[in-house]
Amino acid sequence: MLLRVHALMESSTVNGPGARAVIWVQGCSLGCLGCWNPDTHDPLRGSRSDVSELLEWFAKASHENRIEGLTISGGEPMEQAPAVLELLRGLREAHPEMTTGLFSGYTERELPEALWRAMQSYLDFAVLGRYNARRPSHHPLVSSTNQLLRLYTARYSMADFAPQSVEVRIDDTGLTQITGFPVLGSPVLG
Ligand code: SF4
Repeated sequence: MLLRVHALMESSTVNGPGARAVIWVQGCSLGCLGCWNPDTHDPLRGSRSDVSELLEWFAKASHENRIEGLTISGGEPMEQAPAVLELLRGLREAHPEMTTGLFSGYTERELPEALWRAMQSYLDFAVLGRYNARRPSHHPLVSSTNQLLRLYTARYSMADFAPQSVEVRIDDTGLTQITGFPVLGSPVLG
């Protein structure tokens, strides 16, 4: 199954507990007020990757970096739910020790119950709800006060989520990636 991807990062320390690989998916129809990453909105941009390729990428990332899990952000992961579900399922089967998190602009109530229940069964945490630039939040991972950080397993407690911060990574080729939360809690990516 194919997933349209905006960007990948092998190790980030600002997208959930510890160091984590991050996949930003491409495509989002929600149009949140003040979204900091409009480049992720067009569902025809980015690149298409087979879920099996992404699992191979994650296996390599976890071999080469001291990471404890994967975070899926966007763009809007729930607008590619079948592929995201397959990715989470494959990751849980291949790397049961790794934790998983997801950012979505949808609330739990907006999501089809059976689909969200299936998704939740492979998630340790999720940040849910539209970003609203008029309601900035300083709470860990939550960029506006209407959003919720939810825990679905006992692998983390709220104390494991560090304060918001920004991260800049430059790889061997000079590729620069910026991710995280600027001072007022507005997400650079996701
Ligand atoms: S903040 Fe996230 S959910 Fe909202 S428009 Fe931007 S990419 Fe979409």
